Amino acid sequence: MATGQVGQQNIHDVAIVGGGLAGAALAITASRMGLSVALIEAQWVASFAETKPERVIALSYGSRCHLEQLGVWEAIARAGAAPIRKVHVCEPGNRGEVGMHRGEADVEALGYVVQNAHVLSALYKAMPQDVQIYAPAQLQSLAVDTDGVQLSIRQQDGDSGLQARLLVGADGTMSRVRKLCGIGSRGWDHNRFGLVASVTPKIPHHDVAHECFRPDGPLAFLPLDAGRYSIVWTLSPRDAARIGQLDDAAFLRWLEIEAGQEMQAHLGGFVSVGPRALFPFEYRVTERFTAQRVALIGNAAHTMHPVAGQGLNLGLRDVTDLSRAMQRAVDGGRDVGAPVVLEEYAQKRCVDTASVTVFTEGLNALFCNELLPVKLARGLGMAGMDRLPALRRWLLRHAAGLAQQVFTRGSV
Ligand SMILES: Cc1cc2nc3c(=O)[nH]c(=O)nc-3n(C[C@H](O)[C@H](O)[C@H](O)COP(=O)(O)OP(=O)(O)OC[C@H]3O[C@@H](n4cnc5c(N)ncnc54)[C@H](O)[C@@H]3O)c2cc1C
Repeated sequence: MATGQVGQQNIHDVAIVGGGLAGAALAITASRMGLSVALIEAQWVASFAETKPERVIALSYGSRCHLEQLGVWEAIARAGAAPIRKVHVCEPGNRGEVGMHRGEADVEALGYVVQNAHVLSALYKAMPQDVQIYAPAQLQSLAVDTDGVQLSIRQQDGDSGLQARLLVGADGTMSRVRKLCGIGSRGWDHNRFGLVASVTPKIPHHDVAHECFRPDGPLAFLPLDAGRYSIVWTLSPRDAARIGQLDDAAFLRWLEIEAGQEMQAHLGGFVSVGPRALFPFEYRVTERFTAQRVALIGNAAHTMHPVAGQGLNLGLRDVTDLSRAMQRAVDGGRDVGAPVVLEEYAQKRCVDTASVTVFTEGLNALFCNELLPVKLARGLGMAGMDRLPALRRWLLRHAAGLAQQVFTRGSV
């Protein structure tokens, strides 16, 4: 990969603002199509490898296939990818439990728990030399006309301009690209934080993930390497501030209480906890995926509650669909920023995003609702799930990222 120089008036096929997981994956794919790519990232890219170790992601089986195609899965697996072979769902006080097994979806694992830093590091190691990287650099302004987009970016030693036929906003939830293009978004703040940490349980996890639905929100235990779990503990702002301050012993005692007896039977308590980090939970979806010569991907287009672990998995499917539309333009010798490319992309992403929104926000609303009829219904639902094979299959295929099978092995 090359480093962009201030003052150059560079002309590219594609400029990607935001070099997080979605932007970096797209940069690799677009460059391999033979397109000239600029990647503009606000942070030092080298610091990505040191991103907090407690930040992990559950990748679906479909996302693993995507990363295999990019040629980075082996490095991620070597750094540590813990398979999820079974998911166990329960609710304190509700005797119904649901267990879903990888064999029912006919896959090696329902998902893989990986560190964000390992995925970013593998993507940047695989970045083609000719991708022009501007980092740390901030997008300042943009102007669009029928032929292309002019961007102004700010780096430590001054401002520079570059041009592209297609601008991709991969700059996260607060996307500046989205705002500068006048694209609205809708959503809400969940008024909840996710406390993330790794804990070592007394009982080995045997590759089983647990999700415990409590009134404040879910408490998830994702199997990690070295017998640990990564927890995502949903807390009100007040509890987040209080629990975040507890010493390790008090923290683990609270965790055991919150996990409840149902979970204790599986986990058997905890012996240690690593560093903790807090993330605010928000739901935000763009009103449009595209504008003239502009496409949004990843969190810039949609930010989901992590209850179902769908955010990045959805973002990688954006990358797949946009890459396919771009590849068709390249094959036909056409402009990658043409309306036909953007229309194809927008159409594909609307359906998938709507279905993941219903799944994710619906799951959260269903399980965080204390109204008696809703409690009774979910109690019956959990108890009867084993007798509802169609519903089980639907849940499993979503968990494994197979429901929206836009990506299969060898398809790109
Ligand atoms: C606690 C938690 C748990 C999660 N668990 C899961 C999970 O299990 N599975 C899953 O699939 N998803 C999960 N997610 C969601 C997932 O982390 C996100 O969907 C994913 O990281 C988004 O990647 P992105 O590249 O789209 O955006 P980001 O990671 O936000 O990257 C955006 C990049 O743009 C850069 N940027 C921003 N503004 C500018 C600018 N003006 N100029 C230049 N650069 C800019 C930023 O520096 C950043 O590097 C979880 C999220 C949280 C908070």
